[in-house]
Amino acid sequence: MLSPSDCIFCRIVAGSAPASVVYRDDDVFAFMDIRPFNVGHVLVVPVHHAAYLADLDLDVGGKLFRIAQQIADATRRSGIRCEGINLFLADGAIAGQEVFHTHLHVIPRFDGDEFDLLDALASFVKVSRDQLDDTAANIRSAIGSGHSHPL
Ligand code: 5GP
Ligand code: ZN
Repeated sequence: MLSPSDCIFCRIVAGSAPASVVYRDDDVFAFMDIRPFNVGHVLVVPVHHAAYLADLDLDVGGKLFRIAQQIADATRRSGIRCEGINLFLADGAIAGQEVFHTHLHVIPRFDGDEFDLLDALASFVKVSRDQLDDTAANIRSAIGSGHSHPL
């Protein structure tokens, strides 16, 4: 695991790197993304380092979402240009994760913005109902049996 001094988000949480802070409590810290997709783009992170979702305490994960939900609501009422919100989390490099301290993006959206996530979301792979049923069964049986968090 990275030591806090190696991790930019740990340094931000500790106050040893600059950040524009939106929210903080004992478990969750939120600040403005330095390269925002749109103005108002916030990152919500756990106070204690967790590289991946699997490293994140389940209760803190729930709290991360709760705070993101409140920030999304506040953003809509803040005067920031915001006609919609995307919540986004990249877990693993192949999923687009670049900073290995897990974080939830809260991204304001408006008509005509440049963020093209919706193009990516419009793509899909073809699957049959049998494949859907098999995949659901695989995930069901893996819930609670892995090395990470028991549900
Ligand atoms: P990821 O691709 O890992 O989901 O997103 C990492 C995000 O962290 C990016 O949107 C990037 O702009 C942001 N980021 C990287 N370094 C810093 C930093 O030093 N300060 C802030 N505020 N955001 C950062
Ligand atoms: Zn960290």
